[in-house]
Amino acid sequence: MQEIYPLHYRIHLKPDLANFTFTGTAEILLEAPQSVEEITLNLLELAIWRCRILQNDGSVNCAFNVDPAKEELRISLPEPMAGNIKLKIEYQGLINDKMAGFYRSQYSYQDQTKYMAVTQFEESDARRAFPCMDHPARKATFDIEIDIDPDLVAISNGAVKEKKMLANGKMRITFEQTPKMSTYLVFFGIGEFEFTPDEKDDRVRVVTLPGMQKFAHFGADLGRKSLEFSETYYGIAYPLPKMDLIAIPDFAFGAMENWGAVTFRENLLLHYPDVTSKSGEERIFEVIAHEIAHQWFGNLVTPSDWRYLWLNESFATFFGFGVVDHYCPQWDTWQQFLYSMTGPALTRDALHETFAIEIPGGEHVVINASTAPIIYNKGGSILRQIQGFIGEDSFRKGLQHYLKTYAYDCATSQDLWQSLEAVTRQPISDLMKSWIEQPGYPKITVSRQNNRLKLNQQRFTYLPNESTQRWLIPVTVNLFSKTGETSKLSVLMDEAEKAIEIDDDVVAYKVNDRQTGFYRVQYDDADNLAALGRQVQAKAMSPEDRWGLQNDFYAQVKCGEALLDDYLGFLSAYRQENAYLPLVSIADNLFGAYLVMDEDQRGQISSTAGPWFETILHDIGYEPVQSEKHTTSLLRDKFIWAAAFWGSDSTLEFARGRFKALMEGTDIHPDIMKSVLQVGAYTGNARVYDWFVQQMDQSRIEHERLNILTALGCFKDKALTRKAQQYVLDTVPARNKFIPVVAMSANPNAIPLLWDWYVSNLEEIEQFHPMLYERVVAAIIPVAGIARADEVKNFFADYMQKKEKARDVIKLSLERLEINLRMRAAN
Ligand SMILES: [Zn+2]
Repeated sequence: MQEIYPLHYRIHLKPDLANFTFTGTAEILLEAPQSVEEITLNLLELAIWRCRILQNDGSVNCAFNVDPAKEELRISLPEPMAGNIKLKIEYQGLINDKMAGFYRSQYSYQDQTKYMAVTQFEESDARRAFPCMDHPARKATFDIEIDIDPDLVAISNGAVKEKKMLANGKMRITFEQTPKMSTYLVFFGIGEFEFTPDEKDDRVRVVTLPGMQKFAHFGADLGRKSLEFSETYYGIAYPLPKMDLIAIPDFAFGAMENWGAVTFRENLLLHYPDVTSKSGEERIFEVIAHEIAHQWFGNLVTPSDWRYLWLNESFATFFGFGVVDHYCPQWDTWQQFLYSMTGPALTRDALHETFAIEIPGGEHVVINASTAPIIYNKGGSILRQIQGFIGEDSFRKGLQHYLKTYAYDCATSQDLWQSLEAVTRQPISDLMKSWIEQPGYPKITVSRQNNRLKLNQQRFTYLPNESTQRWLIPVTVNLFSKTGETSKLSVLMDEAEKAIEIDDDVVAYKVNDRQTGFYRVQYDDADNLAALGRQVQAKAMSPEDRWGLQNDFYAQVKCGEALLDDYLGFLSAYRQENAYLPLVSIADNLFGAYLVMDEDQRGQISSTAGPWFETILHDIGYEPVQSEKHTTSLLRDKFIWAAAFWGSDSTLEFARGRFKALMEGTDIHPDIMKSVLQVGAYTGNARVYDWFVQQMDQSRIEHERLNILTALGCFKDKALTRKAQQYVLDTVPARNKFIPVVAMSANPNAIPLLWDWYVSNLEEIEQFHPMLYERVVAAIIPVAGIARADEVKNFFADYMQKKEKARDVIKLSLERLEINLRMRAAN
């Protein structure tokens, strides 16, 4: 990077929502410690009219040239200059439809199609809205001014400072200057926005389109709680006078943490009474808490380069769950963290095609279907591991030290280690480096010789590896004695092998207490495994441990090192299981195996899971109950679909009955809506398909639309799946096109139709938003390729030679296909 530092930007915009363009003026104050002749800024799809140097006595025009490939604007100074340099650039840009940069979002209100315009800049799209030094370390302050039609509202990071009517009939909105911040966090938006402040803390406002205010209060309340938690836990006050939480109809990501102006997909902020399910409520809380954690981790202290992006996302992920757990301990949030974060991270990171949390290279890092599970899920899981190792109190003090030391500045991983070491005196740096700077994770193989446990670590991948990597592993072991007592051992494993002494009367041992460690365990000792099965049956270990035990076992099946039969046999220990975490994981594992295996083994899975899951549903009841646990409700929705799919007659009868009633206009409980719609589609005909489409046309509620889009991927009838595939291309809005496709990739009846659809509509599918295109590819390859492996592999070998597009995701999806093929062959 050049040694020039931006200090301040003054951005003036005149958006034209009728023609989807805007004109802009950017005044940029820069500091050059040494004399420079040229200044390079970033830009993308901006037309530059004029560049000038502003001086006390007027201005001087500068020659400039644009390099579109490098996304650079190079400005030649009239003479070599040092110290403060003030540039003024006049330009024009597009209010595009790409959900990146300054973009438009469409909605309908009172039967009119309308547009709003907002920004989405992470990681490098601020350059689509104004020329800038678009790097997180190039922090500056921003003054923003927008001229709008007087009947619209403008929002930015700062509060409104002034409104002024102009002679041309427009209104000029001037915002308060921002704190020193990175370009990717700048926000501005214009539209018919309405504000709903929280009743107790009017800094927090939910921002909605007309007619949506009634859905805003729930999010405002959670915004206040998240802010309150953060200010207390981090010990640093939120520096802006307002915190807008803005619902945007068209949005590629889930949400974005722009400082003081956080944007969300509608269903992740708005709460629709009688429509939003309990799982939807949890997700709303978690996403709001995640984005508010970013106001400290990311906005206040920023990674000094994108290679340290994990310093943002791992913490936001971790505290997203932590805040929910703080206010709603009865929701078993950390169990859900293991299920939705740690589990997928262990799966993703067991591929050869993976990388370290601290991404080597750095400059070209983007958040996508390949990187997100590492940076968010694995990163968050590693924080849970380190918190478990150093204790909650030290963890918190270390983070306070880090945030206070680097406030309004940038940090690296090393800076974080130093802060944690400053308060713990533990070897944090060595420990964390082994987890953050190298790809993958270990498997610990354990065996017992008399009163000695022998532990051995080796990198775990589904396909064979020759790795000699080592990790510094905080190992914990639960010991179960003859007398029924339990005890715990902790050691730091820093070499390939380690021996631990245990008492003679230990009858079973379980490594990785409560699954705080990010590793897998394999028991080379059949007696111990059988003994652990008995501890599972007796529920003598925690739900987290019961989850980990069978999940690590299933990983061996995926490697081809254990047979599906063995796993099914081990599951007999779980026949009395009633906890959410192990049960949802078992359902996923069986579903995953079902998609891969041949007819015989599919029959075996159905005959095991169908009656078993039906019994569980009988125990918890098909209908939601007011006073039940959240996780019971989440379990029910998942198991209704699973049990119906595996042929449980009573479940089919229940769900079909509810679906019929729904089509006839009777409301059903939101907590079973998703599964009832899935079963409705699965057993449905053309009339059902038409009903879904009609519901899509009528609904203004995103939560409802997402449920319907998932159901559109669940038809058994192939002709209806084909119609749904065409509907995805023709009608489903860009932001949601991947949803029915992902559902089809988990539907054995639709899988045979995916490949031809993808290949014959390739050009159109490639036009999806890059991240959403990747999700489609990642969904299709591993399952659709099983029946036509050579064809799929050859197709992508050729594709990757010609195109860069989605390359990382294609590679990891081909590896997943390979794993599926091996698993099928091994069984
Ligand atoms: Zn985030």
